[in-house]
Amino acid sequence: METIFSKSRPGRRGVWPKPAQKEAKNYLPENLLRSQRPKLPEVSELDVVRHYTLLSRKNFGVDSNFYPLGSCTMKYNPKFLEEVASLPGFTKLHPLLPQLKSAGHHTQGALEILYETERLLCEITGMNAFTLQPLAGAHGELTGVMLIAAYHQHKGNKKTKIIVPDSAHGTNPASAAIAGYKVVSIKSKDGIIDPRALEEVLDEEVAGLMMTCPNTLGLFEKHLPEIVKLIHSVDGLLYYDGANLNAILGKMRVGDVGFDVVHLNLHKTFATPHGGGGPGAGPVGVSKKLEPFLPISRVVKLEDGQFFLNYNYPLSIGYVAPFYGNFGVILKAYAYILRLGREGLIRVSEHAVLAANYLRKKLEDYLEIPYNRTCMHEFVASAVKQVKKGVRALDIAKALLDKGHHAPTIYFPLIVKECLMIEPTETESKETLDRFVDDLIDILNTAEKYPEYLLQAPSKTPVRRLDEVKAARNMELVENV
Ligand SMILES: *Cc1c(COP(=O)(O)O)cnc(C)c1O
Repeated sequence: METIFSKSRPGRRGVWPKPAQKEAKNYLPENLLRSQRPKLPEVSELDVVRHYTLLSRKNFGVDSNFYPLGSCTMKYNPKFLEEVASLPGFTKLHPLLPQLKSAGHHTQGALEILYETERLLCEITGMNAFTLQPLAGAHGELTGVMLIAAYHQHKGNKKTKIIVPDSAHGTNPASAAIAGYKVVSIKSKDGIIDPRALEEVLDEEVAGLMMTCPNTLGLFEKHLPEIVKLIHSVDGLLYYDGANLNAILGKMRVGDVGFDVVHLNLHKTFATPHGGGGPGAGPVGVSKKLEPFLPISRVVKLEDGQFFLNYNYPLSIGYVAPFYGNFGVILKAYAYILRLGREGLIRVSEHAVLAANYLRKKLEDYLEIPYNRTCMHEFVASAVKQVKKGVRALDIAKALLDKGHHAPTIYFPLIVKECLMIEPTETESKETLDRFVDDLIDILNTAEKYPEYLLQAPSKTPVRRLDEVKAARNMELVENV
C-alpha cells in the first residue's frame, strides 16, 4: 500500500514563499527540545496534492453523493455557514478574555450570539430557557435527565424509574441508566406509544418518560396530550428527544404540548454536518420548573444592555462542558436560523416530510413497509420478502454503494426485522430521489431473479465486502486503501 511516507525521498520538498520573519523566541527549556528533526515524509508538492486528492475521492460524503442514513440527517449544509464560523473576530477569541466593555470590547458579540441563540431556540421549541453547553445529542440527554433528577431531589420526591418506549433512540435508555435510573421499557402498539401500556407501569416512583419523537419508525406520537397528562399526574417529567427537529420545525412546539425537557442536535437539524465524530452541540431546553437547575454558566443581559456570564445559580447541576460548549457549532446554527427565518424553517420540515413520504410511496410495492402510513422525516422498510430469496437488508445496503448512494441505516430500530431506515432529508432534489428509487428497484429486481449477484456487493468501492466479525475483532484501518 502506498502511503505518504512510502512516497518519501530524501531531500524532496515543496516550496511556499513566506515573508521574512524574525527568529521565533524559544519558550521551551533546552532539555525538552528535540535532539533530532521529526521523521516527516519528504515529498514534493505534487506528491502531496495527488495523494490527498485521490484519498478525498475515496471518501463518501454529502458533497458528492446521496446519503439517506436514517436517524442521522445527513443533509446538505450551505457553505456560507463555514465562512461565518471562520470569521477571525470569532475564531481568535479566547474563552478567558474579559467580558465587559470596560475591559475591552472583545467578547460582547460572542456573548450576544449565545444569548440570542438561546432566545431563538426557546421561540422555536416553546421552552422557557436553554443551555447551549452539551457537546452532543447523548450529552444533552444526560444533562436533561440530570435536570430531572435535580428537580425531584429538590422536592424530596422519591423517584427511581424512567419509562422509555421500545421505539426510542438507543441513547435514551442509556442516558437514563447512566444518570442512575432504572429503565422501564414499554411496548409500542401500532408503531407508537400505547397510553394503556403506559398506565400499567405508571406509579409514584416514575421520575419521567423519555420519548423520541418522531420515534425511530419515523412516526409521530399522536397520543401526546394523554401521555403528558398521565406522566404529570405522578409529578413525573416529560423528556422529548428532539434530535431530529427537521421533522416538526415550525409545526409543533414541544413546550406548548407540555414537555419539560427537550434536547436538539444542532449537528443534524441546524447547519452543522453530522458524522465524522464531531464537533456537535446538543442544547437542552427546559420548562419553567426546571430552569433553576440548568448548568452554569448562563449568559444574562444586564440592565445596561451588556451581556455577562453568570455563575451564581445555587440550585444548578454545575458544569457539563468547558466554557460555553462548541461555540462554532452554535454560531452556525444562529446564522442558519436567521437566514432561513420563520418561513424557511417551516419549509425545512415540509420538505423533509414530503421527501420521506415520496420515497415511501415509490417503494411500497417493492419493499415491505410494516407501518405504512404517513411518516415524518424518515420511514422504516423491511427486506423480509427478499430474505426468502436469500438476500438480506445488509446485501441491499451494500449493493446501493455500488450505485453511488450511501446505504440507509440497517438493523435499527430493533423492533423491525431486516429493516432499512431511510431518511432522504429536506435538501435533496426530486431528480436525486428518483434516481435512488430507480437504483433501489433495480437492486430489488436483481434480488428476485439473481440473488447470488448481490451477495458479493459492493464491487466498485475502494474497500470491498468486509468480513464483519473479523473487521470488528481485528481492525486494520489502512489495508486495501
Ligand atoms: C442522533 C440522535 C441522538 C444522539 O445524538 P449524538 O449527537 O450522536 O449523541 C439521539 N437521539 C436521536 C433520535 C438521534 O437521532
